[in-house]
Amino acid sequence: MPIIVKKFGGSSVGNIQLIKGIAHKIASLAQEGESIVLVVSAMAKTTDELFRLAFEISDHPSRRELDMLLTAGERISMSLLSLALHNEGLSSISFTGSQSGIMTDAMHGNARILDVNAFRIREELAKGKIVIVAGFQGVSPEKEITTLGRGGSDTSAVALASYLHAESCEIFTDVAGVYTADPRLVKTARKLDCIDYETMLALAYSGSKVLHPRAVEFACKYNIPVEIKSSFTFETGTLLDTRRNLINKGFLMEERIISAIAHKDGLARYQLKADDALQTALSTWNNEIFKYYLQDETLELVIENKFASEIDHLIRTQNLQLIKRLEGSAFITLVGLGINLDPGFLAEAMLICKPYQIQRISHSDKTLELMLPSTQLEACLNALHQAFIGVSQ
Ligand code: ASP
Ligand code: MG
Repeated sequence: MPIIVKKFGGSSVGNIQLIKGIAHKIASLAQEGESIVLVVSAMAKTTDELFRLAFEISDHPSRRELDMLLTAGERISMSLLSLALHNEGLSSISFTGSQSGIMTDAMHGNARILDVNAFRIREELAKGKIVIVAGFQGVSPEKEITTLGRGGSDTSAVALASYLHAESCEIFTDVAGVYTADPRLVKTARKLDCIDYETMLALAYSGSKVLHPRAVEFACKYNIPVEIKSSFTFETGTLLDTRRNLINKGFLMEERIISAIAHKDGLARYQLKADDALQTALSTWNNEIFKYYLQDETLELVIENKFASEIDHLIRTQNLQLIKRLEGSAFITLVGLGINLDPGFLAEAMLICKPYQIQRISHSDKTLELMLPSTQLEACLNALHQAFIGVSQ
């Protein structure tokens, strides 16, 4: 029987009304001969709130205990959704990551999925039940509960879709799909009908929150087509696949230099002496580093503000030499094919950015990345979008 994986993000299961609405929609869409696996995030803000509670006790909480705490969020949403499905007359069962057989390494707070032993899921699907899986979590070989990094439910969904050989994987969220830029900041941003893995990966690593980068990596590695769509309308969203498959499916790939623009704000920059102590400290650092730059004897780490208290703790306890701590920078990343093959492009980008106090420019074959003061972010983003993407065609 074909298996369908559907993932619902925190804002999609943010309150009881929304959970009931999703259950109702699932009931109306459920078809004979189709097995459904639902992956859920914690109800909106729950994970942040649990984090906050832990940091009220300690500015450096034990990662193991933090994982125990944070995984509780998904337990709440999965069981509530299961109860709501029962109300719709459907038979369903919820499982934690560990019950679902999601095996990870032991890296608390940022664990990687090593394997999925989904036999319990298969057993329940065979009985005709809808299976609800807690996203964002797994279990290590030592039977410790782990989490996959903030936003990790996307990864759970794509990993399950791959191990279950699912026919489709849909990521339901609070936006209609992947946009050319964040529609909250750029009013003229438009939804893309499709996007290839490489472009999506670059966007995800550059701050686009619509799909977690690890989930994109997983989808790309195992060739899983993923649809990102709205949990409010259930309308067709953005299809993520290989370029070749998208073309074969009849999508017209837009051949423009820039496909989309990502941004990232809320960052702290730490310039640290690149010595042995730093090397040792970094090997124990479980959180994501957004960017790093090594120049001469200085390593600059760019991390999200929410990890600042932990890096401050490392600096204090591991004798790291802090040269400078800087705040208030943001990043804009233009993503497109062949950026570095177009000599006129950089000149044009620089001209457009002139009023916005760009602090650093770097590029790869598919990205042009700009660092600038947070205060300039919105205006610069809009100017670049207007110039390189424009209004809908
Ligand atoms: N609840 C987790 C978080 O807020 C995982 C997720 O939403 O994907 O990061
Ligand atoms: Mg998310």
